[in-house]
Amino acid sequence: MFLYPKAYLKSVKEITYSFLEENNIKALILDVDNTILDFNKKIPEGVNKWCEDLKKQGIKFCILSNSNQHEKVKMVAQKLQMPYFYFGTKPLKRGFHKAIKELQEKEENIGAVGDQIFTDVIGANRCHLFPILVEPIGEKDILITKIKRPLEQYIIKKYQQRIAKKAEEKGK
Ligand SMILES: [Mg+2]
Repeated sequence: MFLYPKAYLKSVKEITYSFLEENNIKALILDVDNTILDFNKKIPEGVNKWCEDLKKQGIKFCILSNSNQHEKVKMVAQKLQMPYFYFGTKPLKRGFHKAIKELQEKEENIGAVGDQIFTDVIGANRCHLFPILVEPIGEKDILITKIKRPLEQYIIKKYQQRIAKKAEEKGK
């Protein structure tokens, strides 16, 4: 299902090296807004260290943001010391292809992390990447995102029911 992520986590900080290793992921494409940056344009505590630790283990990173605010995306990329692309036009493939080229890894070895199904997850699935959905940071959201949230919540619920059912079947 192209609407579903492969994993749904509370925050990027829950993406551990062992999780990546288990899933054969060697690189991560990161969304910015509500994924690694809050509404006050702050990177939450621990995100920088999370990045550093994974980098030390050999995980590559690249930012792909749909934001057209170049300075903001650049600031985040500089703080986390990774390449970036802004105005990424997710879920279109174009931006993802740029990030894939930058990372120099095969699609199946790249995780795409974001807080939105309609941009991050769909785009990642279209490009055969490993989509990781995270809960959005903070409550404030721009209007267009707010409109999309209830539908996203519905899809997430369906996704979680499916995972639960699969686990139940495994246990039988
Ligand atoms: Mg986002």
